[in-house]
Amino acid sequence: MKVYKFGGASVRNADGVRNLHKIIGGEQHLFVIVSAMGKTTNALEKVFEGVRQGDRIAAQEHIDGLKRYHAEIIDDLWHGPTHLPRVDAFFDELERIAAETAYRSEDAELLYDTIVAFGELVSTTIISEYLRFAETPNRWIDMRCCLRTELRHKDAAVDLEASAPLLRQAMADARETVFVGQGFIGGAPDGTTTTLGREGSDYSAAVVANLLDAESMSVWKDVDGVLNADPKIFPDAVQIAELNYLDTIELAYSGAQIIHPKTIKPLQNKHIPLYVRPFGDKRKPGTVIRDMSAPVQVPILILKKNQVLLTVRSRDFSFVLEEKFSAIFSLLERYRLKANLIHNSAVNLSLCVDDTWHIGEAIEALRAAGFDVMKAERMELLTIRGYTPELWERYAVGPQVFIRQSTQTTVRIVRKRN
Ligand code: ASP
Ligand code: MG
Repeated sequence: MKVYKFGGASVRNADGVRNLHKIIGGEQHLFVIVSAMGKTTNALEKVFEGVRQGDRIAAQEHIDGLKRYHAEIIDDLWHGPTHLPRVDAFFDELERIAAETAYRSEDAELLYDTIVAFGELVSTTIISEYLRFAETPNRWIDMRCCLRTELRHKDAAVDLEASAPLLRQAMADARETVFVGQGFIGGAPDGTTTTLGREGSDYSAAVVANLLDAESMSVWKDVDGVLNADPKIFPDAVQIAELNYLDTIELAYSGAQIIHPKTIKPLQNKHIPLYVRPFGDKRKPGTVIRDMSAPVQVPILILKKNQVLLTVRSRDFSFVLEEKFSAIFSLLERYRLKANLIHNSAVNLSLCVDDTWHIGEAIEALRAAGFDVMKAERMELLTIRGYTPELWERYAVGPQVFIRQSTQTTVRIVRKRN
């Protein structure tokens, strides 16, 4: 069995879906994991925002936009106005949820997951039906019933042991040898839908590869392979032919958009190689990630955007702030803030965190617990692995640099966005 994963960009229009069909070719024993089409997840986040802010009209407008967008793709694929009843049913359900759910802050993540999951449910339905239409028999798999996750919405981890029999059962007795399932989504033990974190489809594919002891996993992307930096931000990016698992985890953790950070472990545990390949050209080699690759020789630059820098100080000026670390971190955990970089002095603790919708509440709670908190917005976190003097000059100095942490090989810089 092989696992193929197609991201949103590769299925953003009808040509992309036809190309997916071409890449699958006559391949047998294939599990295909697909993300939501194009920017659908972003639009669904806006539907959620509409419900959260009580603006049902805005929510419905975003749903209408999504219906038009998918209808166009369907009409193009089937060469004329076509309705797929299963797609219509998903949109009806989404509309009902957006119109009828009363928003409660404590259920924010649950509602978010329930809404954004529709992107993958719809994309896989269209793709599965199109493949059948194009004479590639396949079975649509509902991953909400196959990937059993923890009860943690918006960023759930998959329980491999519990999922194995569920996935096997869903695939049992199939005459088809091609399976199509959603990336990004799973189901909690209480029956609710969970998501695995933005860009989590890679992780879904890795979990499926692990559970099925796949011979390989391939991610089909709109780039030729893994680059040492985002070419949109750093102009002289170059492609890397081979990476080992460890370097890949470091890269992904620092915010490299190549692969979701949780993807590597399920693959590494079963020594499954991961290919990152361009969907535009099946003949190009792409990048392979596996055990034995040597460490990378070029500097690697990773930019994590949308960061906030919090500086926390104990109001009683206690000099041993370490004593308060556990109180601070348990508050961060409660409000789901993840510290991407931590810097401390005798009296201050600085934390670079993702800008999320719970930051205000977390700051309030820290203040109530006796801390002064300062917040600097519009920050970004730049990590350079294998920095050179030139790169240091260019990025690690200057008035926009707030914090700089370095080892012999790696420097991490919190800086004001310009
Ligand atoms: N559709 C989800 C997202 O855009 C998951 C993924 O693409 O991997 O984040
Ligand atoms: Mg995506």
